[in-house]
Amino acid sequence: MGDNRGFSLRIGIGYDSHRLVEGRRLIIGGIHIEFSKGLLGHSDGDVLCHSIMDSIIGALGFGDIGRYFPDTDLQWKDASSIEMLRCVVDLSIRHGFEVVWIDSTVVAERPRLAPHIDSMKGALSRTGIPAECINIKAKTDEGMGFTGRGEGIAAYATCLLRRIE
Ligand code: MG
Repeated sequence: MGDNRGFSLRIGIGYDSHRLVEGRRLIIGGIHIEFSKGLLGHSDGDVLCHSIMDSIIGALGFGDIGRYFPDTDLQWKDASSIEMLRCVVDLSIRHGFEVVWIDSTVVAERPRLAPHIDSMKGALSRTGIPAECINIKAKTDEGMGFTGRGEGIAAYATCLLRRIE
């Protein structure tokens, strides 16, 4: 990582989506949410964790999530995405940056996610990002597109990193 003219702040953006299928537990933001379907993925399919991870990796300038957690790596098969996020937060600290803010949006037609946001923040804080530094918004796409049809769930995240003094 170059010094980028000494800037002490970095921003990153992350996006992820996973297909909803029967026979999987629905895990979003590190918590289990009761629903008839779950997200298909190599890991637990936690779109929110994955989008936050990509936002941090992006702010670090380290490419993307696939570089650290390839689908071909059996170590991450059915892995907890909270553990994966913890690895990314640790990676950031090792390179001299701490997360000061995460803003995120999860797009799901069903189930209703708003009642679970505080629990998600609590789970995400186990990665070392303070719960009060995380914002989560729950949206629908009003019936439009793959999220609107209930085929999948998507998540967007931005993060702000600050160089540790
Ligand atoms: Mg993913």
